[in-house]
Amino acid sequence: MGLRAESACGRVENMELATLGAALADGIQGTFSGDLYRPGDPGYEEARQVWNGMIDRRPALVGTPSDEDGVRALVNLAREKDLPLAVRGGAHSISGHGTCEAGVVIDLSLLKSIEVDPAAKIARAGGGVKWGELDDATQRHGLAVTGGRDPDTGIAGLTLASGSGWLERMYGLTADSLMSARVVLADGSLVTASAFQNEDLFWALRGGGGNFGVVTEFTYALHEVGPMITAGMLLYPRPMAREVARHYRDWIEAAPREVGGGLAFICAPPHDPVPPEAQGKPMVGVIVAHFGDLADADEALRPMVEFGPPAMAMVQPMPYTALQLIQVDAFPKGAPGYFKAEFLDELSDDAINTFIEMTAEPTSPLAQVLLQPLGGAITDVGTDETALPFRDAKWVYHALTVWTPDMAPDEVHIKYTKDLAAAMSKHTRPGVFLNFVADEGRDRVRSSYGAIYDRLVAVKDRYDPNNLFRLNQNIPPSGG
Ligand SMILES: Cc1cc2nc3c(=O)[nH]c(=O)nc-3n(C[C@H](O)[C@H](O)[C@H](O)COP(=O)(O)OP(=O)(O)OC[C@H]3O[C@@H](n4cnc5c(N)ncnc54)[C@H](O)[C@@H]3O)c2cc1C
Repeated sequence: MGLRAESACGRVENMELATLGAALADGIQGTFSGDLYRPGDPGYEEARQVWNGMIDRRPALVGTPSDEDGVRALVNLAREKDLPLAVRGGAHSISGHGTCEAGVVIDLSLLKSIEVDPAAKIARAGGGVKWGELDDATQRHGLAVTGGRDPDTGIAGLTLASGSGWLERMYGLTADSLMSARVVLADGSLVTASAFQNEDLFWALRGGGGNFGVVTEFTYALHEVGPMITAGMLLYPRPMAREVARHYRDWIEAAPREVGGGLAFICAPPHDPVPPEAQGKPMVGVIVAHFGDLADADEALRPMVEFGPPAMAMVQPMPYTALQLIQVDAFPKGAPGYFKAEFLDELSDDAINTFIEMTAEPTSPLAQVLLQPLGGAITDVGTDETALPFRDAKWVYHALTVWTPDMAPDEVHIKYTKDLAAAMSKHTRPGVFLNFVADEGRDRVRSSYGAIYDRLVAVKDRYDPNNLFRLNQNIPPSGG
């Protein structure tokens, strides 16, 4: 039975929304353990929000289940009432896939369990865990899995659509360390996906995003990291951009996989230890990190650290968890944002010139373009072993434009980002990991999976034939 009632303009009126929310809540209250937020409830306004402040959607019901049965109840409810269903881990989807209009939201933020088995080097983490929480728990044992660069990002969305972090050249993408997942499927059943059970689902979960079910628990293989490593940032004045970028490229492409980091066209943070004359100014940043033996770090990083002179150099032994906070000020929660990303076969001098030209006048001091060197462990995994086929790209750029409401209108920042991507298109190649891309429609999703797309559709046909899980970078079933 459909309960949805839309106004002429397509948005459900507030009263109808409240009635719908109340009817939905009544349907599961009593058996549901966790919190339910309907329009008008205290906490609803906060519960409907996601990281990206540009997204303004009003679900009929936000449920934060405290156990797997609660997740199943919400999946069953949305399916039976034929309502849009949004699934939220850490709410960082740039397109706002963690919320919806006039439908049901499953917010996993109460599923926070973390168990680390240091002897087996394994961690089990609930679907609502964030990277800062998992890093803290695993680092107590000198272990980690490649994690997001913002500690507030959810492990769920990030893992399911690839997972990129400073450790990726050393230990691969986050999805590459996934050992198993507990998944609530569209029919409400709970299954385990691993190399030994539901293998097709396990393959699809490692790259296919939220298309196949709700993951309530992730099991990761952990790796030895730190806890002390050598890392930090070098900041160079913009006039040095060309020589810094070329030097960085030549150095990192020949560097061992123990060395990670990236090159960033950013505005310098407006605080210490950045020198006052550089604060807030467009600069070129180089983030360096060495994950091998501490004793080898100086030698490994020297060719970059001694390049200069930089306006600021802060490279030193630090806990891995401190490196994970290096960008924390760059992503204020609730700020509007718009992202683009693309792979590059090579970082040519021409491509560097285009980056420099297009980042000369950022529309926001929080706009950054991060250039990530790939290779290393990412290429150890075969192109059909996971649903992440494009592993031979040497570089990826992430144009991460974030601003605050007191700046120019949203369109100005979106145009800046789109213009940059358009100018870069002559240097890039098809296919990208969809985590860093705002919704761009079906063709973009299809091209991002290349030759494995039909295999993903076959898995979708098996596990979600009616496309209940469609508020994501969607892979529709063959019928739809
Ligand atoms: C500030 C910022 C920094 C970022 N940094 C990085 C980074 O360093 N590395 C990187 O790889 N990416 C990064 N990203 C991109 C990030 O990986 C994606 O936005 C990812 O979707 C976030 O996961 P989430 O759980 O927080 O998102 P949500 O918005 O909660 O979910 C996003 C998508 O994942 C699906 N999903 C969420 N939870 C589940 C679940 N339990 N089961 C099934 N499906 C689920 C949803 O359907 C939705 O489509 C960043 C994004 C932002 C905004």
